[in-house]
Amino acid sequence: MVSYKELGLVNTREMFAKAVKGGYAIPAFNFNTMEQMQAIVQAAVETKSPVIMQVSKGARNYANATILRYMAQGAVEYAKELGCPNPQIVLHLDHGDTFELCKDCIDMGFSSVMIDGSSLPYEENIALAKKVVDYAHKYDVTVEAELGVLAGVEDEVSSAVSHYTKPEEVIDFSQRTGCDSLAISIGTSHGAYKFTPAQCTRDPKTGKLVPPPLAFDILHEIEKKLPGFPIVLHGSSSVPQEEVDTINKYGGKLPDAVGIPEEQLREASKSAVCKINIDSDSRLAMTAAIRKYLAENPSHFDPRQYLKPARENMKKMYIHKIVNVLGSNDKL
Ligand SMILES: [Zn+2]
Repeated sequence: MVSYKELGLVNTREMFAKAVKGGYAIPAFNFNTMEQMQAIVQAAVETKSPVIMQVSKGARNYANATILRYMAQGAVEYAKELGCPNPQIVLHLDHGDTFELCKDCIDMGFSSVMIDGSSLPYEENIALAKKVVDYAHKYDVTVEAELGVLAGVEDEVSSAVSHYTKPEEVIDFSQRTGCDSLAISIGTSHGAYKFTPAQCTRDPKTGKLVPPPLAFDILHEIEKKLPGFPIVLHGSSSVPQEEVDTINKYGGKLPDAVGIPEEQLREASKSAVCKINIDSDSRLAMTAAIRKYLAENPSHFDPRQYLKPARENMKKMYIHKIVNVLGSNDKL
C-alpha cells in the first residue's frame, strides 16, 4: 500500500472546490507515453495550472500500470525541477469499471478514481459506486461516478447512443453514493468522431460540419439541484480542424472528424463543471506533428527527431486549452 500523499500527489477535493467557486475548470489530460507526460507537466508549470493526469484501462494495458504510476511520481518531481515548488497534480483512474480495479489503483498511489457504472441499472450503479467510495475515503482518495451515458468510442468504453443525465436522479445518486464529483451526459461524446454527419448541420460558408449544441438546460437544472457540487464532462475534445487537415494532408484519412466547439466548453467551465476530459486532441496533435515531420524528412529514423515536434505540438495544445478554454491558469 502506497499513499499518494507520499508521492507528492493531491486529491481533487480542494482543487474542485476552488474551481467551482472561481468559475474555471481543471484540465484532465489522458496519458500513455513519456512525451505526453512531459508535455502535460511543462504546460501546467508554465501556465501555473493545477492538472489531472488520467490513466484509462487501455493506457494501463498499453504502458503497464506500474510504469504509469512511477511516471506520475516523476511528473511531480519534474514539475519541481521546472520551477514549481508546490505542483497540484492528481493521478486519476479514468473509467474504472470494477471495484477491484479501483482498489488496485488506490493501493498503488492514485489520488482519485472514477467508477463508471453508468451502463448498469440505476440501483446497481449506486451500489458499485458506494462500495468504491467507502474504500477510497478511508485513504482520502476522491471518487468520480457517472450518471447518464455518453455516446462514442474511447478505448474499451463505447456506446452507440447517448442518454442524457436525468436531473431528477442526481440528488439521490450523490447522497447515496457519497461520490465527490459526478460525470454527466449533456451531449459530449468520446473519440474523434463525436457525431455523424447526419447529426450535424453544415456551415454554408465553409462546408464544415457543425455539431449539435450541448444541453445547457440540463446542466443548469443539475446545478440547481446540487449547488456547488463538482460536475465532470467527458468526451470534450474539440478535434481542431487544423490538426485534422495536417493529418489528411500528409497521408492520413480522417474524413468528417468532429468535436465539441471550444466556445461551448468555455461556457461550461464557468458553471459547476470543474473537470473537463481531453484525450483525442492530444492524439491528433501528436499524430499530425509526426506525419508532417516524417513526410518532410523521409530519410530520418531516430524517434527523437519526430517525437520532439510531437511533444511541442501537444504542449501548445495543452497550453491553449488551459488558458483559452478552461481558465485554470495562474491558480497555483
Ligand atoms: Zn470518458
